[in-house]
Amino acid sequence: MDSNLESYHRILTVNIAKQQEKQFLEVPFRVGENVEEIAVNMTVRAQNDERATIDLGMRGANGIRGWSGGARSTVILRPDTATPGYLPGTMEPGDWAVLLGVYEVPAQGVTVELSIDCVPVNPRWLCGDLHSHTVHSDGAFSIDEAANRAQACGLDFLALTDHNTYSQNLGYPRDLRVLFIPGMELTTYAGHVNLIGVAHPVDDFRVASQSDLRGYLQTAATRGALISVNHPLEMSCDSCAWRWEWDSVVDAVEVWNGPWHEANDKALAWWQASLASGRRLTAIGGSDTHNLQDPYVQHGRPTTWVYAEQYRRDDILRAIRQRRVFISYAPSGPRLNMSCGPYLMGDVVPERGPHLVRVVIERLEADDEILLISDRGIEQRTVAGQEEPALAMEVTRHGERFYRIEVWRWFQEVEQRLMAAMSNPIYFEEG
Ligand SMILES: [Zn+2]
Repeated sequence: MDSNLESYHRILTVNIAKQQEKQFLEVPFRVGENVEEIAVNMTVRAQNDERATIDLGMRGANGIRGWSGGARSTVILRPDTATPGYLPGTMEPGDWAVLLGVYEVPAQGVTVELSIDCVPVNPRWLCGDLHSHTVHSDGAFSIDEAANRAQACGLDFLALTDHNTYSQNLGYPRDLRVLFIPGMELTTYAGHVNLIGVAHPVDDFRVASQSDLRGYLQTAATRGALISVNHPLEMSCDSCAWRWEWDSVVDAVEVWNGPWHEANDKALAWWQASLASGRRLTAIGGSDTHNLQDPYVQHGRPTTWVYAEQYRRDDILRAIRQRRVFISYAPSGPRLNMSCGPYLMGDVVPERGPHLVRVVIERLEADDEILLISDRGIEQRTVAGQEEPALAMEVTRHGERFYRIEVWRWFQEVEQRLMAAMSNPIYFEEG
């Protein structure tokens, strides 16, 4: 992926005469390869502030992409979201045009200024919540309310994982507030599993046996769903803990469900043992937000961060499969990064690959405790100092199977030391 592409920014000025009223005009511009987002802003200037109405729309290289008439002066197109009235989709390279409808122009004419930005594909960390409920099952939020709440706390994406249904996936908005990811929480009487990324992952949900479960999970996997076992060691709910076998099609495990609590400690210990045994399940987080009853169960608590090639649903799912994921207690929590030469968090470094592992942690607070953990246990413990919001360290691997990071913090409001952030491992191939 070429991340050195220049962002294309241009301002085009068009003079429109009174005689052009009721015509449609095209203002052409060129879109290059690997564009992720196009944003257009229109300013209309008439002499003496006389009344003028210019309608706005967009044509892509392959056809009309939308029309907002006189309702808007800004349009943004992205692969999976767009300004209402416009179609999300690929920014195909070629000849595009801003469409202007000359509705109403004063005698002296008007000047239209168009600011056009073509933002290149830009691999980056995106943050979201992979587990949430709406009125489509036992949640209190409409989808619109969920979108507003996710936007207000700064999330880039939100998975809708209502219990044993997919009606929530049929009509969610594609506007710019948050990128929705379709999902379903397959809720059995012996454990819950999220099927993330496709609108209709299974045709039935009534799991009565291990072979039923295997069949449904295989159907979901075939249809492209990412499969994540939820709160596997939940203790406060009889039927919530995972009592089925761990099927080979499972991609991920929700090690961090809602505010950090004892069941998360147990899930973490289970995951660590699983990693040490050689299995490489992606650890993800999910708030499991249903309503406003508990002030600590909120969208984005915890937040799952994924290193995605583009702000696209498929890239977010791919990043989770690639284990390029860390989790923080909130969108504002610590940020974690690990690399070993060209290899990133989640990658497997070959045996003959580089040995120096670089760890960068940002948004730390004084006295945060940083643990570097391998299959052998805690390798290093560091305490963040005052005025030390970022920390970089280098460690050399010596036959470990993986390194991963945990950040623990004293939260005064609950008077407890809790997980503030945790990474997925960077893995090392064994000799
Ligand atoms: Zn749930």
